[in-house]
Amino acid sequence: MNNSRSTNVAIIGGGYAGMAAAVELVARNIPVTVFESAQQLGGRARGVSYNDTQLDNGQHLLLGCYRETLRLIELVGGDIGQDFLTLPLQLDLHNHFSLRAPRLPAPLHLLIALMSAQGLSWGERIKAARFMLTLRNANFRLDRLPSLAGGITSDLAGVVGQPSRMASSSIRGARGEGSSDITVSALLAQHGQDADLTLKLWEPLCIAALNTPISKASAQVLLNVLRDALNRERADSDMLLPRIDFTALFPQRAANYVEMHGGKVHSSCGVEAIVPKEDGIELVTASGTETFSHVICAASPVVAARLLRPIAALADTVAQIDSLEQQPIYTLYLQYPAHVTLPHPMLGLHQRYSQWLFDKGQIAAQHGLLASVISAEGIHQELSQDELAQKVIAELREEFGIAEQPHWLKVIAEKRATFCCSPNLQRPAQQTALPRLLLAGDYTAGEYPATLEGAVMSGIKCTSAILESL
Ligand SMILES: Cc1cc2nc3c(=O)[nH]c(=O)nc-3n(C[C@H](O)[C@H](O)[C@H](O)COP(=O)(O)OP(=O)(O)OC[C@H]3O[C@@H](n4cnc5c(N)ncnc54)[C@H](O)[C@@H]3O)c2cc1C
Repeated sequence: MNNSRSTNVAIIGGGYAGMAAAVELVARNIPVTVFESAQQLGGRARGVSYNDTQLDNGQHLLLGCYRETLRLIELVGGDIGQDFLTLPLQLDLHNHFSLRAPRLPAPLHLLIALMSAQGLSWGERIKAARFMLTLRNANFRLDRLPSLAGGITSDLAGVVGQPSRMASSSIRGARGEGSSDITVSALLAQHGQDADLTLKLWEPLCIAALNTPISKASAQVLLNVLRDALNRERADSDMLLPRIDFTALFPQRAANYVEMHGGKVHSSCGVEAIVPKEDGIELVTASGTETFSHVICAASPVVAARLLRPIAALADTVAQIDSLEQQPIYTLYLQYPAHVTLPHPMLGLHQRYSQWLFDKGQIAAQHGLLASVISAEGIHQELSQDELAQKVIAELREEFGIAEQPHWLKVIAEKRATFCCSPNLQRPAQQTALPRLLLAGDYTAGEYPATLEGAVMSGIKCTSAILESL
């Protein structure tokens, strides 16, 4: 069992985490079998067909700093230049705020962007730029920030930015992000980022990156994303908008790659039980049982907890998964006449239900198709889907003069889109108490919030752990 010839790995779940692990393993000649319960691969980032139109279960955005995801997309045959519309960092809140990064080296591009941002007073621009420099000097580590010397953990949430917008508002490292983590609200208050600056800049950034309101969000995890997006190469802050759907972008190509390298991918084949045995780990599916040397459980947290619960040795892991709160993401797709466009491929709205709008005509030649994204918990959840759609249609009319009614619309409410990324979160490690049973998924231990890159990195960590054990 301890050499690569007797190694055969099962992966439960064909989302981004599971397919990343599968690709990395077959690329090293390790036999792999992927079990995916759904008909289609992709999980929480999957293509959805509606009214003969290709949609996704939610409009996603990648950042240039998602290096592992982009590397794997290319490894399995993707072409970043063709698959994405790439925009330099820009944040527009229609008629209220505009920040655009010039094509200059980091972090100069960001400082210039902040100092020239429209919709902020000079004082606010200076405060924002000074804050960024302070973060940079502290290497984006909370415990190195001057105001946090000595490990202040008090929570000043509520001082800034309440209520939020429209909202009422390492492989072994189970310990989230250090003991001095605080909320984003608290961090902003400590660094003089006033309410206007917070509403226009930091809160939209935080919700987009962490899918968690600033009053609940981990400051350290936000800093991890800012560090990687804003402080390395300029291209790391690029925003990549996919021109093809999220199943086609990576998981389907990854499945083709796995099969070409001798692996197997079984769709519509959910795993019903994981049974550790002396000579391996047995998986039970509707078609029977099969034994593997290693299993990577890359299902969503709720399913992972259900599958692991009967295994007594994993009680602590299951307790950690059970304690994760979830946050929703709503996406409304509206098909208008083909001539309807927005001023930019992607732009935000200030103090509206729609947080971000995407013009799929400009992004993917789906003319007249607009997507409105509402991330994290908020008062939109109190409305029916019809009521919410009417609010969004009214916003589009008031903000952009779109007088027509959409031909059709589709609301996709992902109630458990991501875990709530709160301070000092105890995320389960990839390695479990059973050395040959590993966990992958965006919710497992890592520096990133629930993102495609976090999911992919977790799959790669599982692969490395298996390879090291052989
Ligand atoms: C609406 C929305 C918008 C988002 N926007 C962004 C964004 O802009 N940028 C970004 O980086 N991230 C975004 N995310 C987050 C990102 O989609 C997730 O972090 C990522 O897809 C999680 O991948 P995963 O592989 O960890 O889990 P999942 O995608 O949940 O994959 C788990 C897989 O396991 C399968 N499965 C479940 N049960 C079983 C079983 N019993 N047997 C076999 N298979 C099983 C599921 O069908 C699924 O395919 C968004 C998420 C949502 C929902």
